[in-house]
Amino acid sequence: MAFIASICPYCDNGKQITANRTSWLIHLSGHREEIIEHLTDTTESCQFCSYPEPSVNKKHASSHYRWAHQKSTLINWALDNLEKQILV
Ligand SMILES: [Zn+2]
Ligand SMILES: [Zn+2]
Repeated sequence: MAFIASICPYCDNGKQITANRTSWLIHLSGHREEIIEHLTDTTESCQFCSYPEPSVNKKHASSHYRWAHQKSTLINWALDNLEKQILV
């Protein structure tokens, strides 16, 4: 099984974690609010809608991410967008 080594950008202390994909997803699921905040700050429109409407404002964007999409979608996005090393 492959291991993913990265620094968790959502932990306050920038914790270095080496874990398999499942453990990473479990860890990141504790950071749902931080991931929503990060998405809201870094994207102009939704990353997950096929035909996204531009967000009116940040409040609108964060509630869209919170309610229109599955938590697992956000978590998988966060994992795929880590600057990571895959150790095999
Ligand atoms: Zn973390
Ligand atoms: Zn969307």
